[in-house]
Amino acid sequence: MRSITTLDLQYAHRFYGFQGEAQYLHGHTGVLTIEVEDNVNEGVNMVFPCNEIQKTAWDVLKNFDHALILREDDPLLPAILDVYEKQGIKDGHPCNTMKGEAFKTELATAYPDARLVVTKETMTVEGMIKIVYELLKDKLNIVKLTFTSGVNAACCEFPTDKTMDRCPLCGISLDENGVCPKCGYKKA
Ligand SMILES: [Zn+2]
Ligand SMILES: [Zn+2]
Repeated sequence: MRSITTLDLQYAHRFYGFQGEAQYLHGHTGVLTIEVEDNVNEGVNMVFPCNEIQKTAWDVLKNFDHALILREDDPLLPAILDVYEKQGIKDGHPCNTMKGEAFKTELATAYPDARLVVTKETMTVEGMIKIVYELLKDKLNIVKLTFTSGVNAACCEFPTDKTMDRCPLCGISLDENGVCPKCGYKKA
């Protein structure tokens, strides 16, 4: 069975070099739907608690929220960094508190202090699905991701045959020692 959850991301981006309006800087509310598959955990009668899927995803995806997402070769990138530097906000600001943990993958690098994500490919809805899967595939048993942004939408299914050991009391993944990081339950 599947547990399905949705979260919103507000971001600005553009398609550098694209022949259309999207080559201009603009913003969206993107909606990401994450589908996690496993057997039903009998203790809690769930596949996975949806609020915990959201927490796990949000820890890294916060980097995309109220952020600017630019491709690594976009000339706007040095221009923006120059403005942020002169303004004294490039390396953080006391008001910039909703920060995710920094990450660097093959496809994207997050700079939470500047609320910036630099991508290897253009950040289309398809590109975002590739980035998100890479960030979360080892943390959640993801079988499908859907991302919508304005009139654009894409989805992708991912094969999985693995099952995760989950706490029978609160439903979240047990750590490598079989202990629940939330309630302390230990697998016998
Ligand atoms: Zn757009
Ligand atoms: Zn627990």
